[in-house]
Amino acid sequence: MPIADPEKKQIAQKARLYHKICFKCGARNSMAATRCRKCRNNYLRLKNRALGTKK
Ligand SMILES: [Zn+2]
Repeated sequence: MPIADPEKKQIAQKARLYHKICFKCGARNSMAATRCRKCRNNYLRLKNRALGTKK
């Protein structure tokens, strides 16, 4: 789905990438989270890629 507005695209990508992913169950957690909200696992990886990377 192509987004014409580059400004909106940047916001969308930021919102999509700025969170933590649980290693165990793959649930998305907020940046402030220290452990998974689903399985309480504290092994979270940061999903914080550079903007502009597709896929
Ligand atoms: Zn989890």
